[in-house]
Amino acid sequence: MLDKRDLQKCIHCGLCLQACPTYVATGQEAESPRGRIYLMRQAHEGRLEWSQVRPHIDACMGCLGCQTACPSGVPYAKLIEAARAEVETHARAPLQRFMRRQAIKHFTTPQRLRLMLRLAQRVGMRRPPRWLARRLGADGVALRLPTLPAQAWRPTRTVYPAQGTPKARVGLLLGCAMQVLFDRVHRATIGMLTLAGYEVHVPRKQGCCGALWVHNGYPQEAQRNAHVLFEAFRTVDYIAVNAAGCGSTMKEYGLLFQGTPEHAVAEEFARRVRDVHELLYQADLPAPKRDDSLTITYHDACHLVHGQGIRVQPRALLQRLPSVQLIEMDGAEMCCGSAGIYNLLQPKLACDALLRKVQNIRNTGATIVASANPGCTLWIRQGLQEAGLPVQVLHPVEILAKAYDAMP
Ligand code: SF4
Ligand code: SF4
Repeated sequence: MLDKRDLQKCIHCGLCLQACPTYVATGQEAESPRGRIYLMRQAHEGRLEWSQVRPHIDACMGCLGCQTACPSGVPYAKLIEAARAEVETHARAPLQRFMRRQAIKHFTTPQRLRLMLRLAQRVGMRRPPRWLARRLGADGVALRLPTLPAQAWRPTRTVYPAQGTPKARVGLLLGCAMQVLFDRVHRATIGMLTLAGYEVHVPRKQGCCGALWVHNGYPQEAQRNAHVLFEAFRTVDYIAVNAAGCGSTMKEYGLLFQGTPEHAVAEEFARRVRDVHELLYQADLPAPKRDDSLTITYHDACHLVHGQGIRVQPRALLQRLPSVQLIEMDGAEMCCGSAGIYNLLQPKLACDALLRKVQNIRNTGATIVASANPGCTLWIRQGLQEAGLPVQVLHPVEILAKAYDAMP
């Protein structure tokens, strides 16, 4: 629920404007954080209909660049999630609402996602069909469907022992897209965490963290997902996450369950969630085994940098590799436009953000982009390919696991 006190924290100073990719792209106040907060307030106080505000809420990437930039402590993440729930309840046509729910359900269920991509691959479909985009409320299609790895990966054990005396038990979240498309990142994560002295537990019965649900205005579905994780990770000291969007949502479970009987359980769970870079950064890692000369630029995934305040750790870990040259790109903290399923729903603004990101990458001359979120990785890969740039996009732990020879 929107909280009037949160809305009133905005003092209209405008310091967030240049951090907002949709304002930078359009120059329109209604597509800025300040404008959106004003519109939310109008709708909350009954001076506007939610249907009038909806286009501007839909066009928000939810990147939280504004939250980092704001000197007044406006909790924008909380506001946009509540506003989206209002829009879904009061201002979305039933068919579009149904289609959006179906899309999220298919993306967040690994078996369905795998099947959907396999069928698309079999019939040679490169992009989601236009009729589907229209039904979802999108005015075009830009996103390319990702290619499935040749073989589906399953963890071979439920417990991977630590190298040396275990310092803690860490449960690994497998997630949805991560599980289906990024098995190398999971294997690298297991390899690096065990090398760092953690015993890694991979519960078989786990599922989606609920991020896509809560970011698109369906908090109750997100709660249902969270319940499964509470049980799956009951006995571990930490829950390790290697996808920025998932980690950010799981650290906010306290907020998701506010006012419910599960609030204390959710808070306790959230306190144990760690991004993989946090766990590796605080560990004593041995010297790397390989010393490849690499030129890397780091893309700050929004839900890592703005959602979790993690910007130092991934960079520091990469800089521990002696022959890595890390070159900062302009706008590293600016959203690439992927933003969950935003690039499916808002192709024009998503492409605008992607083109800016690709140009900034090009300017660095790097041959590798390090990115710690699956959506960003796929979208930036697509942008680089379309621009004809031979640049790889890898998760930082993949780069680390290769250097430490830690891939199981
Ligand atoms: S979340 Fe991102 S796109 Fe939305 S208002 Fe804030 S800065 Fe702009
Ligand atoms: S920086 Fe914060 S207080 Fe200033 S306009 Fe943006 S949201 Fe409002």
